[in-house]
Amino acid sequence: MGLVHDFFNLLLPDLCATCGTPLFRNEKVICLKCQYDLPRTRFDSYTDNPVARLFWGRIRIENASSYFRYQKGSRFQSLIHDLKYKDRKDIGRELGRLMGIELQGSGFARADIILPVPLHRIKQLRRGYNQCDPISEGLAGSLGIPFQSDLLEKPVRSTTQTRKSRYSRWENVDGIFRIKHPEKLCERHILLADDVVTTGSTLEACATAILGIDGTRVSIATLAVALKSF
Ligand SMILES: [Zn+2]
Repeated sequence: MGLVHDFFNLLLPDLCATCGTPLFRNEKVICLKCQYDLPRTRFDSYTDNPVARLFWGRIRIENASSYFRYQKGSRFQSLIHDLKYKDRKDIGRELGRLMGIELQGSGFARADIILPVPLHRIKQLRRGYNQCDPISEGLAGSLGIPFQSDLLEKPVRSTTQTRKSRYSRWENVDGIFRIKHPEKLCERHILLADDVVTTGSTLEACATAILGIDGTRVSIATLAVALKSF
């Protein structure tokens, strides 16, 4: 397998998803230099971090964190773009795996089940996949927690949210998520997985749907965070 891989790698080397340089055999998706340079938040190390604060006074969240800072113009922006629009599910799996390693031994690791934030069915059909599924898969692998992508669903289509205030976004997403088999989540600690958190309103709507079930607790892990100030 190693020889075959090396042979094809000579012809068509895998390239780093961030900087485009050929990857070494021990590197996957992102080269070690880019992994080292990734602007990590380390938010998982303190509970009153900026992502957790997004939910203060809105909804009860056990733990919340994002793996890295999403900044416009940064070379790491393409990771999220390619994961969402260029069928690069491997980026989601690898970053999810790396984030999971960072979360090992923390409160996040005590969750019972990982649920990806769902897309509306039509949107998912058009895109071919939900980018939060590979993220959840990566997290599940390194945290040793199962993930299930068919329990949380989004039956209502929300209109585009790009140029709306935080308040109208919240209005827009309230009540649009539904739990398919609530009995499966009863008394469970759920880890919600998403790609980027901005206002937190989508995650808040997901958490609201989950917390309607008896005995549930919710934690939140996103690959990236896009906040104006840090
Ligand atoms: Zn690189």
